[in-house]
Amino acid sequence: MIKIHRLVFNPFQENTYIIYDETKECVIVDCGCYTVSEQDEITSFISENQLIPKYAINTHCHIDHVLGITFVKEKYGIEAIAHGEELLMLQMLPQHALMFGISIDSAPEVEITVSDGDTIKFGNTELKVIHTPGHTRGGICFYSEVCNFLVSGDTLFEGSIGRTDLPGGNYDTIIGSIKAKLLTLNQTTTVYPGHGSETTIAIEKSSNPFLTEK
Ligand SMILES: [Zn+2]
Repeated sequence: MIKIHRLVFNPFQENTYIIYDETKECVIVDCGCYTVSEQDEITSFISENQLIPKYAINTHCHIDHVLGITFVKEKYGIEAIAHGEELLMLQMLPQHALMFGISIDSAPEVEITVSDGDTIKFGNTELKVIHTPGHTRGGICFYSEVCNFLVSGDTLFEGSIGRTDLPGGNYDTIIGSIKAKLLTLNQTTTVYPGHGSETTIAIEKSSNPFLTEK
């Protein structure tokens, strides 16, 4: 039985997810813990539930989604996974951080790159990588058809979509990604976005103003 736990971190109110199954192995998605108390929150959850972190996996590498990666990598001795096209942005992170008044010593390192169609395995669970460029070039979603959920990063939100005015963003591309690769999934799929509340593919297909306009 898959479980998905949401923690909301950092000044950007970013959703970090811990996904685990009956084996207790877990992945940490978009680890955004920034303060010491946020770091405590994530380690407490992991120890209280006796979880075994396998990877830090990222939908994309904007600053609010990567602030805690180095911390969990060092704490648990795990490797980070992202799409290869996010690596350039990652290198620029210390400069981006300064623009937002956030200090980071260095950009986190990603050891494993993935692309569309790859699978990430932990415990008895497999997550399929779906490349959904448009918010960033290397933006990806994580999908489990068996467990009927999608982690959508900043591509698809409840009633909205990710911004496309940052470097690598493109409005037509994100709309194309969502319509071709996400709205075509099982309609009952629960969507866990990078910010805000859960939704479903059916709800977004029928009522998301960015997707219903002709
Ligand atoms: Zn983002």
